[in-house]
Amino acid sequence: AGGRDRFVGTSPKDVLHAVFGFQDFRSLQGQAVACVMKGRDALVLMPTGGGKSICYQVPALCRPGMGLVISPLIALMDDQVAGLRQVGINAAALHSELEGDEAAKIRSDLAAGRVDLLYVSPERLLSPGTLERLTRQPVSIIAIDEAHCISAWGHEFRPEYRALASLPKHFPNVPRIALTATADERTREDILTALDMPDAEVLVSSFHRSNLNIAALPKASEMRQLTSVLERHRDEACIVYCGSRARTERIAAALRDKGWTALAFHAGLSPIEKRAALLRFRSGEPIVIVATVAFGMGIDRPDVRAVIHLDMPGSPEAYYQQIGRAGRDGLPSETVLLYGGEDMARARYWLDQSSAPDSEKRIMRSRLEAMIALTETTGCRTRALLHCFGETLEGPCGHCDNCRYPVVTFDGTDAARKFLSTVYRTGQKFGALHIIAVLRGKTNEAVERNHHETLSVWGIGKDKSEQFWRGVGRQLIARGALRSEGQYSGLALNQDVARPILRGEETVSLRADATQELEKAAGRAR
Ligand code: ADP
Ligand code: ZN
Repeated sequence: AGGRDRFVGTSPKDVLHAVFGFQDFRSLQGQAVACVMKGRDALVLMPTGGGKSICYQVPALCRPGMGLVISPLIALMDDQVAGLRQVGINAAALHSELEGDEAAKIRSDLAAGRVDLLYVSPERLLSPGTLERLTRQPVSIIAIDEAHCISAWGHEFRPEYRALASLPKHFPNVPRIALTATADERTREDILTALDMPDAEVLVSSFHRSNLNIAALPKASEMRQLTSVLERHRDEACIVYCGSRARTERIAAALRDKGWTALAFHAGLSPIEKRAALLRFRSGEPIVIVATVAFGMGIDRPDVRAVIHLDMPGSPEAYYQQIGRAGRDGLPSETVLLYGGEDMARARYWLDQSSAPDSEKRIMRSRLEAMIALTETTGCRTRALLHCFGETLEGPCGHCDNCRYPVVTFDGTDAARKFLSTVYRTGQKFGALHIIAVLRGKTNEAVERNHHETLSVWGIGKDKSEQFWRGVGRQLIARGALRSEGQYSGLALNQDVARPILRGEETVSLRADATQELEKAAGRAR
């Protein structure tokens, strides 16, 4: 008893029960385990919270030898190790932040063959000393966690994952299991190719998270919209995602001023600050983390009740992963994306300016366009999101904003023509706010300086509210009739799309944006 191979000969189901205390395998876990037990390679795609760990932990124990788990983040490793030790598994993590005596203890445990499961970062694993030590003993399986990090097309690419291609050379005949929550076809193919496992069994589970109430709202007044969501989660944990470090600091400070316990989290923090923030987040206290995407992998607090995006993610994949951090315990949780036309135009502009190779830009552009379409969709949002991952939902989900409050559309042809004309007449260099001021017949410093009150378009839209015109402008950007000309987001016409609208050759159906009342009702109806 107590030896490393003590579970060899016990059935996976019994190990699941005896060690982890679970009654049954969930979703694809059983299939994944069976596949690796046979010695075959596998690629497992499961949403965050789906239960990927069991897929490699169980076979690692049931097969003779030590299980190797490659993981990109120290926090993630430490967490898993702590959890496993609690249930009597001798797990350890080898990474750069070990204290001297910790590292020595692990080395002697390794030498004595006492380690059941070893977590290791890719660069550490393939360093000569470690590799030599590890190849000296039998290895039961190799798990490659967060396997999408190997794909250069992904949003979390890690070059050091590339070296994992050499695993079969160092560990011949050891079955490998790659796991990820990023499901798109391209990433999937990249993983299989980069890990050189063409014959791997590919197991894809449903990505539908029925406990998530997904909503997206046009930005009106950001802080008010944000606090009205947070208000519904006074004593709970929430994550707010922002597009830049400076913005996380600013929003967190503004929230603290309003009495919230709010912390900023981004890649610019020192390791000590990061650890401190993570510790508080994990402690279970009510807290709002205002973060960039740096707050991502390894975030395993199960009771996050809301994820709010103040800036639009660049792809449906990134969006899915981030909202997936809500409700990992399966209880109802909400996600709210605030989006605006300028954000979309700016994202497109920066992508065009980027120095990435054209092939890469093409893929990023198609992902960005998919994300924009997702925000403007008038149909079931969950269905549209799952569609991005090649999954077809039979009926509407019933729990997204568009399902609960069917979108009202109207013939916006006339409004669209007015907006586009105003952009054209003012010289295609002003932002949406200026265009709207001219449309509504307002005078202000900029209007007067440019003599825009003398234009024929001045005041042609004064019968409609500012919010109405914002919606029109945003949707014209989303459908590509308008683009951003520079980083200060002056709007210009995309002739191909704009001209048929201006000429009256094309009708434009627009969605009526939710009013504040509807936003509030949406929150209450959770
Ligand atoms: P992932 O890595 O896919 O995000 P985890 O492996 O962290 O997900 O598992 C998510 C949660 O589901 C954990 O709290 C875990 O204890 C639980 N879980 C996993 N498998 C089972 C199972 N077969 N039965 C019940 N709960 C499970
Ligand atoms: Zn829906």
